[in-house]
Amino acid sequence: MIIDTHSHLDDKKYLHDLDEVLNRAKEAGVGKIIIPAANPADLPKAQNLAKKHKEIYFAIGVHPYYAKDYDENYLLRFASDPKCIAVGECGLDYYRLPKDTNQKEQEIKLQKEIFISQIKLAIELKKPLIVHIRESSIDAKDLLLLHDIKSIGGVLHCFNGDKELLELAKYNFYFGIGGVITFKNAQKLKDIVKDIPLEKIVLETDAPYLSPEPYRGKRNEPAYTTFVLKKVSEILNQDANYLKTIICNNTTNLFKDLFK
Ligand SMILES: [Zn+2]
Ligand SMILES: [Zn+2]
Repeated sequence: MIIDTHSHLDDKKYLHDLDEVLNRAKEAGVGKIIIPAANPADLPKAQNLAKKHKEIYFAIGVHPYYAKDYDENYLLRFASDPKCIAVGECGLDYYRLPKDTNQKEQEIKLQKEIFISQIKLAIELKKPLIVHIRESSIDAKDLLLLHDIKSIGGVLHCFNGDKELLELAKYNFYFGIGGVITFKNAQKLKDIVKDIPLEKIVLETDAPYLSPEPYRGKRNEPAYTTFVLKKVSEILNQDANYLKTIICNNTTNLFKDLFK
C-alpha cells in the first residue's frame, strides 16, 4: 500500500469533493493518509475527518507561520485521540521573514521557541515529529540535535535536498519525497535522493500544494503519490512495486500508531 504521509485534507479546497478525492486515493492504492497540523484552528476539523474515515490519521502541532497561536494545553486536548499519531508540522521557515531587522529577529526567536516546545512535546508524548524546514536547514538541524530525537524519530517533510540534513538519518529521521521530485528544475533533489538510505524514504503530497507533473500548478491530492513513486523508482533504478513495499515498511516503522 502507498501511505501519503503529508496531506492537508482539512483544507477548504476539499470541502466539496472530499469523498471523490478519497475514492481516487483508494483506487490508486493509497491506503492511509496523514493530515499534518498547520493552523491550530483547523485541528477539530482534522480530528473529525480522522474519526469519519478509517484511512485518515492526524497530527497535532503548529506550523511556523502560525507561531503566535501556539498553545500547548490546546494541543494536548487532541493528543489522546487514538488517531493522533504525530507532532507537527513544526519547524522553521525563513522564506517570508519581515524585512525590518528587529522584527526579523523577533520572528526567528518565536519560531525557534515554539519549535523547541514541540520537539519536547513529541518526546513527552512519545510521538514522531513531522518537521517543516524552509531556508533554515542548519538552524533546524541544530535545534533537533539538542534533543533526544532518536527515541521518537520523525520525517523531514518535503525534503529540500540539503546535504547537511542527511545526517539526521542516523537519528531515526526519514525523508518525505513529494511532487517536487517530478519538476524539471529539481535537479538538486533528484541527485541527493540517491544518497538517502532506501529504508529512510517516505512519500507525501503536501496536498493541496506541489502537485507532481503532469498536474503541476493544479490542486494536489493523495492519488498523485503514484507519480512520485514512479519518478523515485526511475531515479533509483528500482522496480516500483518493490519500492512501494519498502516505503510502506519505512512509513509504518516511523508512524507505529498507524495500525492502532
Ligand atoms: Zn510544510
Ligand atoms: Zn504541509
